[in-house]
Amino acid sequence: MRSLAILGSTGSIGTSTLEVVRAHPDLLSVRALAAGRNRDLLRAQCEAYRPRCVSVGSREDADWLRSSLSYLPQLHWGEEGLRACALHPDADTVVAAIVGSAGLASTEAALRAGRRVCVANKESLVVGGALMHEAALAGGGELLPVDSEHAALHQLLADRDPATIREVRITASGGPFRDWPLARIQAATIDEALNHPTWKMGPKITIDSATLMNKGLEVIEASVLFGLTPDQVAVTVHPQSQVHAMVGFHDGSYQLQVCANDMKLPIQYCLLYPDKQPGPVAPYPWDTPRQWTFESPDLERFPCLALAFQALREGGTAPALLNAANEVAVAAFLQGRLGFWDIQACNQEVLSRIPASRLGSLAQVLDADQAARRHAEGWVQARA
Ligand code: MG
Repeated sequence: MRSLAILGSTGSIGTSTLEVVRAHPDLLSVRALAAGRNRDLLRAQCEAYRPRCVSVGSREDADWLRSSLSYLPQLHWGEEGLRACALHPDADTVVAAIVGSAGLASTEAALRAGRRVCVANKESLVVGGALMHEAALAGGGELLPVDSEHAALHQLLADRDPATIREVRITASGGPFRDWPLARIQAATIDEALNHPTWKMGPKITIDSATLMNKGLEVIEASVLFGLTPDQVAVTVHPQSQVHAMVGFHDGSYQLQVCANDMKLPIQYCLLYPDKQPGPVAPYPWDTPRQWTFESPDLERFPCLALAFQALREGGTAPALLNAANEVAVAAFLQGRLGFWDIQACNQEVLSRIPASRLGSLAQVLDADQAARRHAEGWVQARA
């Protein structure tokens, strides 16, 4: 039986995780839930799963939960609350699904405390991947990627001699603007960017899918997770999102991982690894006729992908700078303060103006993150 702490329980990964838990009541149980602002859904989740430890974004919401729950768990709030849930002594497995660099410290602490951490928070790997590996090594923790492409790679690369691998490829749906001409992309609206063709996800990652920044962050994530050079990671656009990743060997052959595009599959893979059990998703329907297509990404129309490769090659804090700039730019776009094309301009601005430094400590990563945010905010304000 695995006992879970779910950080980000009311988001898209968190609610899917709870569906997987519901499908395996004899294998999975919930000990801690942490959420941000969605206190109504958190309350409903608490009543359904009765976790012993609960954390919410603000003290006010923690007080509200205390008075409205039918039982009394340990109640926490804010950054300290996330930590309390991540390190709860009764939980052996942490699902790290807080969006953005806010999830960094709790992910690191859980790895250092020897937990299995199912990382859906790709930012923590992008900005501090080496530190996460270090924390896992020091504390005996185990890091499993929830991201569908990386869970696929984890399966494809298990027990493989790294010397046999020529490259890995992660697939991209291409997002809503895959076949749009450049001029139309440059003028895209918020609604158009939020209209993702194949995946239903939170707003930040949906915008990142429209710019292909999400795929760029995933390229960095793949390099960090599996110890691959920038030249060994490539992207193939595959709009049907049924092939999630491929591994290419020196002899020219490839192995592909195929499954429905449903996040419950990679989540269950990480929670039950190395077991494979029937779950909430049906086996792949091979008898349903369908066509798969593959193409190369166009870096001119999707410059954020090129910026990610640039940051990966620069190394050190460059991925942290890019990630922070992008978080600021996407938030400003969603608030109507920036145009769609300004997102890549903001990212480019920060990456070219702030020099990257060597990656030493979590504090250093957070400093780079803050410096990039300040610069990006200033750029956004000057633009408005
Ligand atoms: Mg992904």
